[in-house]
Amino acid sequence: MRKVLISACLMGEAVRYDGRAAGDGGALLTDWQREGRLVVICPELSGGLPVPRPPAEIRGGNGSDVLAGSARIVTPDGDDVTENFLQGASATLALAQNHGVTVAILKQRSPSCGSREIYDGRFVGNRIAGEGVTAALLRRHGITVFDETQLAEAESWLRHQSD
Ligand code: SF4
Repeated sequence: MRKVLISACLMGEAVRYDGRAAGDGGALLTDWQREGRLVVICPELSGGLPVPRPPAEIRGGNGSDVLAGSARIVTPDGDDVTENFLQGASATLALAQNHGVTVAILKQRSPSCGSREIYDGRFVGNRIAGEGVTAALLRRHGITVFDETQLAEAESWLRHQSD
């Protein structure tokens, strides 16, 4: 069975920076979980960060720039948490590869999991086109990334892959 990597906060796990979850999975994800299709991970916890934790944003670019060393991930107080995010991205990639994952559904707009938009690094709620560091690393290794608003696309993508 083709496995799907998914952000833990989308499956009801209270792992977000604010100590909350981002959803309860919904019908499709609950079905996939029952089938044993889901591989669940929170990259930021895997990188050693606690719950709760300060919010963080990418400053100076997006996830690809962080991987290239030309952008950093910081908290509103200016603490640099880039290394935690990089460790979490590496752990997530390793888990995905161990399970033969080729598709992921990641929480939108996170500095780790975002795949189409992120915040601009000024902590003013301004969104820009871009991806988080985990999404960037997964894509670099050939894994297709959707967000939680694209479940129909992810399901269609899975249907068109051979198991
Ligand atoms: Fe959710 Fe990803 Fe943030 Fe973890 S790192 S709380 S899985 S969005």
